[in-house]
Amino acid sequence: MVNRPMSENSGVVVIGAGLSGLVAARRLVAAGQPVRVLEARDLVGGRTRAVAAVPGAGLVDVGATWGWAHHPYLMALARELSIAPFEQYSAGHLAYETGGTVHRLGQASGSAGYLRFGGGAAVVAQTVAAALPAGTMQLNTRVTQLRQVAGGVEVEAEEGGQLRTYHAAAVVVALPPRLAAHSLRFEPELPAAVRAAQQAMPTWMSHAMKSVITYETPFWRGQGWSGFAVSQLGPLTEIHDATPPEGEPGVLFGFFAGPHPLRSAVPAARETAVTAQLTRLFGPPAARPLAYQELDWTREPFTSTPADAAPPLSVPLQAPVELATPLWQGRLLWAGAETATGEWGRLDGAIEAGERAARQVLAGAAVTQG
Ligand SMILES: Cc1cc2nc3c(=O)[nH]c(=O)nc-3n(C[C@H](O)[C@H](O)[C@H](O)COP(=O)(O)OP(=O)(O)OC[C@H]3O[C@@H](n4cnc5c(N)ncnc54)[C@H](O)[C@@H]3O)c2cc1C
Repeated sequence: MVNRPMSENSGVVVIGAGLSGLVAARRLVAAGQPVRVLEARDLVGGRTRAVAAVPGAGLVDVGATWGWAHHPYLMALARELSIAPFEQYSAGHLAYETGGTVHRLGQASGSAGYLRFGGGAAVVAQTVAAALPAGTMQLNTRVTQLRQVAGGVEVEAEEGGQLRTYHAAAVVVALPPRLAAHSLRFEPELPAAVRAAQQAMPTWMSHAMKSVITYETPFWRGQGWSGFAVSQLGPLTEIHDATPPEGEPGVLFGFFAGPHPLRSAVPAARETAVTAQLTRLFGPPAARPLAYQELDWTREPFTSTPADAAPPLSVPLQAPVELATPLWQGRLLWAGAETATGEWGRLDGAIEAGERAARQVLAGAAVTQG
């Protein structure tokens, strides 16, 4: 049951507190714009999320993990926020599982040189959110509809069973494009070409599921394994060392095969299968985990649509121009990693897109003041 709408004047409204929306908000606030960020979940960070490896221990990623030194926007933002990444552990052998055999291969880990963030990649979004002026962030607020009106945009949102209407001078939609097409209503409707481009655009890693397994120590390191493993057998297809920078507890994460019959089983069945696999790969100590955690992103309605259940057959190098072009006389703008021209779908692309959207709002600053 929803109550009577309330109307609030909100300057620029940013929809979605993933990294892209938060960066857009940061740049707009820095330029003196009044900003409100509406986020459907009860936490910021979107596809970056960290959980405690075990209660009281370091945080580990169940969403995005890595940055790369050649990702310019991510590296610049990390410097700006005084966040120093550290290098993925990669010394030792690669385990390659095929048929019934585990091969011990000498080549470098597939994630050698990748960069991680203490506290998980979500720390970047959390740090940006924490620096926004008090009252900017509004969690548990699911936007449902955008309506073009004289002098701006009306944003309808549902918050704890209550319908609210925000009046915005401009709106930045910082959702994956396919999710925006699936879950937001636009009045007037978006041009057919824009809607088609949004629906055709896969959401990077929305099909993924991560399993995170915690041990007392990273015992595999002492046995000469890097923790990197590739498996033709599953259920994890690719495994990496995810131990926090303090070196304990020992953590491995793996991408769960998809599609896989166990994806729809109870968590205990997956835990049993994953533990058995890690025991095949890294020996008996792997049979005694302290904790098993997982997140299936296809089950996250604020990330995935039904079209995202299977891995995309191909992904673009960059977004088509329609996905980044402002509409409604410059009052409706787009951010999100899938609208980027550089590192499409990645953290770097999310930042690039957030910065671009903020620039586009500021370029129409007369609009946002009018
Ligand atoms: C398992 C996994 C592993 C990944 N690994 C890496 C990696 O190692 N390196 C890398 O660079 N990238 C990786 N990525 C991709 C990376 O996470 C994304 O590029 C980035 O987080 C996207 O940020 P975004 O802000 O564009 O979108 P999102 O993070 O998806 O943010 C969108 C936000 O909008 C909110 N929202 C949705 N609907 C509504 C609504 N109706 N109203 C209000 N708010 C709404 C969501 O809750 C969310 O907070 C990975 C992703 C996943 C899922």
